[in-house]
Amino acid sequence: MGDGEKWVYEFSEGSRDMRDLLGGKGANVAEMTRVLGPERVPAGFTITTAACVAYMNADRAFPDGLDDQVATALKRLEEHAGKPLGDPDDPLLVSVRSGARESMPGMMDTVLNLGMNDASVAGLAEKTGNERFAWDSYRRFVQMYGNVVVGLPGEKLEDAIKAVKKDRGVREDTELDVDALKELTATFKSYYDFPADPQDQLAGAIRAVFDSWLGDRAVAYRRINRIPDDWGTAVNVQQMVFGNKGDTSGSGVAFSRDEVTGEPEPSGDFLPNAQGEDVVSGVRTPRDIRELREWQPEVHDQLFSILRQLEQHYGDMQDTEFTVEEGKLYMLQTRNAKRPAQAAVRFAVDAVGEGLLDKAGALQTIEAEKLDALLHPTFDPDATYDVLARGVAASPGAAKGAIVFSADDAVAAAAEGRDVVLVRPFTEADDVAGFHAATGVLTAEGGKASHAALVARGMGVPAVTGAGSLEMDVAAGEVRLDGEVVLREGDLIAIDGTTGCVTTEDVELIDPVVSDEFETVLKWADELRRLDVRTNADTPEDAAKAREFGAQGIGLCRTEHMFFGDDRHEKMVEVILATDDEERRSALAELLPLQQGDFEGIFAAMDGLPVTIRLLDPPLHEFLPKLHDVEARLERARVEVSDDVAALERTYERVRTLQEVNPMLGTRGVRLGILYPAIYEMQIEAILRALVAAREAGRDVHAEIMVPLVDYRRELALMRELIERVGDKHGLARGKDYSIGTMIELPRACLRADEIAYEADFYSFGTNDLTQTALGFSRDDIEGRILARYIEMKVFDRSPFETLDGPGVGQLVRMGAWLGRKVKGSLKLGVCGEHGGDPDSIDFFHHSGIDYVSCSPYRVPVARVAAAQAAIRDVDPDLATRS
Ligand code: PEP
Ligand code: MG
Repeated sequence: MGDGEKWVYEFSEGSRDMRDLLGGKGANVAEMTRVLGPERVPAGFTITTAACVAYMNADRAFPDGLDDQVATALKRLEEHAGKPLGDPDDPLLVSVRSGARESMPGMMDTVLNLGMNDASVAGLAEKTGNERFAWDSYRRFVQMYGNVVVGLPGEKLEDAIKAVKKDRGVREDTELDVDALKELTATFKSYYDFPADPQDQLAGAIRAVFDSWLGDRAVAYRRINRIPDDWGTAVNVQQMVFGNKGDTSGSGVAFSRDEVTGEPEPSGDFLPNAQGEDVVSGVRTPRDIRELREWQPEVHDQLFSILRQLEQHYGDMQDTEFTVEEGKLYMLQTRNAKRPAQAAVRFAVDAVGEGLLDKAGALQTIEAEKLDALLHPTFDPDATYDVLARGVAASPGAAKGAIVFSADDAVAAAAEGRDVVLVRPFTEADDVAGFHAATGVLTAEGGKASHAALVARGMGVPAVTGAGSLEMDVAAGEVRLDGEVVLREGDLIAIDGTTGCVTTEDVELIDPVVSDEFETVLKWADELRRLDVRTNADTPEDAAKAREFGAQGIGLCRTEHMFFGDDRHEKMVEVILATDDEERRSALAELLPLQQGDFEGIFAAMDGLPVTIRLLDPPLHEFLPKLHDVEARLERARVEVSDDVAALERTYERVRTLQEVNPMLGTRGVRLGILYPAIYEMQIEAILRALVAAREAGRDVHAEIMVPLVDYRRELALMRELIERVGDKHGLARGKDYSIGTMIELPRACLRADEIAYEADFYSFGTNDLTQTALGFSRDDIEGRILARYIEMKVFDRSPFETLDGPGVGQLVRMGAWLGRKVKGSLKLGVCGEHGGDPDSIDFFHHSGIDYVSCSPYRVPVARVAAAQAAIRDVDPDLATRS
């Protein structure tokens, strides 16, 4: 990108298709200008994301040509407005707002009323005949500039306001008179070197917006929402309209449908005589959008009809900001509304019902990842409990946990696996990491449109905001009600983000019921998807749950989990400690009926559907006591001259012999089957006996027996012979009664998938181990030190254990699938690693010839929708890009 690049676009030059360059806000405001006409949308221009990228690459220097292009665009804006920026007689004022490709609510900076100074404030007062309004605008600008551009702490500025209000004996900002506003403006200006020249102000604000892309909270938000660092933000410079001009003016946010439930009635908040940030900051308590009708009926009707018009145009639910200036309605921005899963589902179903979208289009408006929020627990409706407080039902779902008062504490607790609820007076953008770590969020202030609510809903974290009767004293680590301490840090609290209820009681949380609308969406997904969706389940209960969620079989039953129960564990230890085959077989004989019972339970739960059972996989020593524990027991026995000494010595020796330096690369998977065939033989026997018993009970069963961690064809051949031998004994035939397959989870297996296919009926890609062995990262340790740093240093933008590393591990999967099918066209191909429940990875598998994915029960609905979306994008790539 060299000189001559166009860095600046007027709103009239842009469109919704230019989102990457103009950012979401810039592209939408341009589009909205076309749709609603220039009368409804204040004019302005957008500085491109490319300019921000160039700025970052040049060590925070404006790219060549930017200053000139901004000057030219400003000139045209001044001509259009008929007044110069900051003019002493009749000033043009502008807002300067960030806007990345994906909206990042509250993460970056905004400056309003730019162009004010000692001269223009007089002009504005004179021109509008409203001195208070002029000084209020000036006060706000000096305050915002100090905070956003100069970096003064927000509290210092707010404290000055509080002091003046106290001094004048008033409660609300709106009650401050001109003198008080003048005093405040002077106080703010004494804190820093205020630039009076509007051109300097503009350059400073543009720089501040660019810089805010690199700020801590924006970086934290991008990590969580997987937004690449190198996108940059655009900057929108727009003519100000004023919601703070008196009683017929106001500002608000409006959603084209209820932003929490998705019901068809528009929702939102507004404040008379206020600017937009007053509504979202939660400083004043806003009024419900429906009250617009009493306030100004004409504005109400115009706004509601514009909301419908925008929704029709975008084919999606809209989230807008508007300002009313002396009775005239202006639309400042619109974007597709971020919404909780229940609203997304409701919208999709209604949109099809209303003829707004077809099924495929409606499915594409849903973020599959978020759907498991619908499967989150709620308070047991039959439970009785004392309500401590009620607040705003800001983000659905119930949560329980110990109170923490800071985002850092929430993050620390999550790292230790503790459930905590983040409790704050109000949340700020800096708290984002805490939202992610907590099971729920509770605040004393803020409405449904506050940033706290938006961020929580965006992340699918249950939240109650505005529980105003509670006083959260973060410094003292206390929550007070009517002045009395009711809770302290670490105490249990439960919140219901669906109803807004808060209690200190240990209310039972119950699993939700899948709503009719959700069922409808899932049915459409099933009609459209090509991939089958199975589940990873090791117990009949999990299998039944997954079946309720639509699983089409079990893709992975991990049998090792069946040996951890008290009665089994001891027997398993005997199996492993046995020094000869006879001893081992006798212990295994006791395990056999127990295993058979396990499989019968699973076959019953999955009657009529395929069940893949994997033979034992993990390192044997996982079942054994720790060497130093045995050693300590031995020492004690020796001191006490106990009879156990000989037995303990034997155990010690055996455990010592079985120690491995790299157990994950050691005696596990098929290697167990080769070293200790009796173990696999018992499992195969149990599976086939269970199959016979289930059939006798009238069930339709087909077992898929799966061998883990295969590298070589010969390994699988040996296991195939063993399985067939046991099958023959029971008069069962491979193909008809059972099939034999293998996990493909080592790079060599992918490279040699053609020859391995001679031994197999199916492959299931174990992308957890495949990622571990292809990348050489330990799946158990990467989270600790490496992951965060690697993301920070941009080696990758998310964990390869969460979303498949397409270019690396994904190529191995594709090669394995292709080679396997080359030899055996009928080879069935599945994926059973964690990636089987991740929407982006599912898209990759859809395009890799895979037949089914298998994931944990609660991910099954997510996978069904994600698989449909992959299929839809295949047919109509345009649907991949949502405006
Ligand atoms: C895998 O490796 O992807 C897999 C499913 O097996 P496990 O997670 O049990 O190793
Ligand atoms: Mg594995």
